[in-house]
Amino acid sequence: MKRLKYFLCAMLLASFSTYAQDDVKPEREQGHTNQNKFKQLYDEFSTPNVFRTGSGAPGPGYYQQQADYKMDIEIDDATAKLYGNETITYTNNSPDELKYLWVQLDQNVRAKDSKTPLISNSVVRPATTSSSVVKSYLKESFDGGFHIEHVKDTNGKDLAHTINRTMMRVELPKAMQSGDQFSFQIKWWYNINDHVKDGGRSGYEYFEENDNRAYVIAQFYPRMAVYNDVEGWQNSQFWGRDEFALPFGDFDVNITVPADHILDGTGVLTNREEVFTKDMMKRYKKAKKSYDEPVMIVTQDEAEKAEKSKSKKKKTWKLSAKMVRDFGFSTSRKFLWDMMAVKLGEKDVMAVSLYPKEGNPLWEEWSTKAVASTLKSYSRMTFDYPYHKAISVHAKQQGMEYPMICWNYGRPDKDGNYSDRVKYGMISVIIHEVGHNWFPMIINSDERQWTWMDEGLNTFTQYVAEQDFGEWYPKALSANDKTYPSRRGPAKNIVRYMGGKQDFIAPIMSKGLNTYQFGNNAYGKPATGLNILRETVMGRELFDYSFREYANRWMFKHPTPEDFFRTMEDASAIDLDWFWRGWFYTTDYTDIGVKSVKKFAVTSTPNENGKQIAERNNIDAKTLIYFIEEGEEGYEETMKKGVTMNDLPTVKEYIMDNFTPAEQKEMKETPKFFYEVTFEKPGGLVMPLIVEYTYADGTKKRETYPAQIWRLNDKEVSKAIASNKEIVGVMVDPDLETADVDTSNNAWPKEVKASDFDKFKESTRD
Ligand SMILES: [Zn+2]
Repeated sequence: MKRLKYFLCAMLLASFSTYAQDDVKPEREQGHTNQNKFKQLYDEFSTPNVFRTGSGAPGPGYYQQQADYKMDIEIDDATAKLYGNETITYTNNSPDELKYLWVQLDQNVRAKDSKTPLISNSVVRPATTSSSVVKSYLKESFDGGFHIEHVKDTNGKDLAHTINRTMMRVELPKAMQSGDQFSFQIKWWYNINDHVKDGGRSGYEYFEENDNRAYVIAQFYPRMAVYNDVEGWQNSQFWGRDEFALPFGDFDVNITVPADHILDGTGVLTNREEVFTKDMMKRYKKAKKSYDEPVMIVTQDEAEKAEKSKSKKKKTWKLSAKMVRDFGFSTSRKFLWDMMAVKLGEKDVMAVSLYPKEGNPLWEEWSTKAVASTLKSYSRMTFDYPYHKAISVHAKQQGMEYPMICWNYGRPDKDGNYSDRVKYGMISVIIHEVGHNWFPMIINSDERQWTWMDEGLNTFTQYVAEQDFGEWYPKALSANDKTYPSRRGPAKNIVRYMGGKQDFIAPIMSKGLNTYQFGNNAYGKPATGLNILRETVMGRELFDYSFREYANRWMFKHPTPEDFFRTMEDASAIDLDWFWRGWFYTTDYTDIGVKSVKKFAVTSTPNENGKQIAERNNIDAKTLIYFIEEGEEGYEETMKKGVTMNDLPTVKEYIMDNFTPAEQKEMKETPKFFYEVTFEKPGGLVMPLIVEYTYADGTKKRETYPAQIWRLNDKEVSKAIASNKEIVGVMVDPDLETADVDTSNNAWPKEVKASDFDKFKESTRD
């Protein structure tokens, strides 16, 4: 059907921008169910309740369990074994009766009978390396599981317990009622793995020169599982990928290691005078007042001297932490140690680094500054860092986080040379892992179920912090970088993934273990989504306020995905269900383009077409305004006359009759050029339509049509545009901010030469 090309004067003058707004072509199908992309997420979201409200905040009945630990740990450096004895005090704050407790035995993922290797796909390759052959076919698997010696109550009486792989159920002598507390003891040991050879988030690196180890130790103790209102017991097995769900608690940990070791970990060091030398004490006091440069607590000379011999004596380091969800530590005689103070609000926090000499010169220069910078950026985006220190430990090939301490890669070659890639990789991983103090260490989401809630939110904040770091430490940037070259965050960096083969993409709302392309799924895509919300959909002010609100509502609590989604809406008054639905629950991608641009001339001289319309509607043809499309009879002639809308006698008359002289003066500039621009959306994702119009005089105008423009037609929409300047170009998403996977349809007229970006995409898509 040919579109009607007439509008009544009154409508026309109401507003240029809305005069054809309701002239849409709805899609109609038989038996259509409500699949509208703006449909609210009532089916996907859990029903708000007394524990979690519809606003995304904790409800009046919100509770969380508490697990407090007292532990004695010893590392036997000669045999690389860890011995432990712990007393767990568990408080049941839930309204429920508990018959048994679930304890996590994560090291069992490395047990000889671990089922983890059995669920991975393996094939015979036509050619492979000897090391891979030995590892796959010859080597006896490492016995790294927990050896549980006993589980007893505080009177020394054995407690019945059942080990189901990485989970242990402990029977309670008497069911715990709401408010009850129960203490029990577990004694264990395990063989510490070489994390460089055998992998894992914890273990040691072996240095052949001088026969030394550097330990990064975590998941080393039986840890309480989470019990809450959404999962009951979160006792989903640890397969090695999806990380951890842990309750908060207080820790008192005594760690015994060789006397010549340097050790740091989660918590306040309560016997500093005992384990520090006088020199170290002096330097530590200096570091507490040093806000710009780190102070060496243990120098490279001292570390190099220490690694040449081995003390037979032992030393116990005592650490005490309040309200942490986990505990990690690192120890070696190889460590250099530096610290500096960071002012956050009224409080001083220590930024700390531990690294073997192999990390220098890179580590001495940038690690502690990267920690300090991260503390400032994340505090601004969320809340002030509540702990007293944040430690970055250098461990080969590691990037792993625990409360107050994390392991990070980035090592120069033997001569101390490093590429830009190694340097940026090291700074980025430090920012990322220190950032994990917020997500999930304090904003304590369930990592076992939802990887994106910590990795995605953290990778987004990491992007903001990296940009800060580049601004605050320009010396860290390479000569040709003006800003920090962030890998994840900018929309265009996710295009290759989102436009790739659908068979190998899963929605973000998937359990990590079951997703393809884990890094893009759980880190890159959610981080990019938040960046698009911040820069394009919500704006920085509304986004930052809402993001901070989420962080503060769930600080030291356990949020779920809905708590995040709901809070972002609750605090901003922006309906984002369409965004969550598309970006988080589907694998749809963005592809929006310009389909056509039609040009029109305006006249009040009735033509054949117009006369028929007038007749059919029983209106005097002389009172109507006519739009003649380019190519139709009379177009060229009318355009040559240069008639503007206000020149038309009926329009003039209407204005005179209906508006005061003052109002007439207020009217818009007289439009002479009329267009109907049709935008197409081959992509499934709904996004704001960002358009740049270029005029004949070279000037440009940006217009962002909210995503809701697609609400009634998901495939295409048109805009009628009146302009006093000729439009010579239309460009969709000119700054590549919506992750549009195919930009070949983004411009009118079509650009003859494909941009470098398109070429890149062509070459990488398959
Ligand atoms: Zn991470």
